[in-house]
Amino acid sequence: MHLYLNSPSLSVCPKCGKAVLPHRVCVSCGYYKGREVINVMEKLDRKERKRKEKEIKDYEKEGAKPAAKDTAEEKK
Ligand SMILES: [Zn+2]
Repeated sequence: MHLYLNSPSLSVCPKCGKAVLPHRVCVSCGYYKGREVINVMEKLDRKERKRKEKEIKDYEKEGAKPAAKDTAEEKK
């Protein structure tokens, strides 16, 4: 699933790929600027945590590129 959001008020979390508000902690994974600010995992039960960890792993696997920030808007 692609997140091509045209809204300038949203950016994409580099950690999990969810749409997040700029300058806000990602409520999905708890990361902000590459650091874990909220421990969202702690609040989740084990099943949810597994799911989220997988989600983040999957995103890292497909989406993460070294210079992702600069190339993000380039479509081939
Ligand atoms: Zn996130």
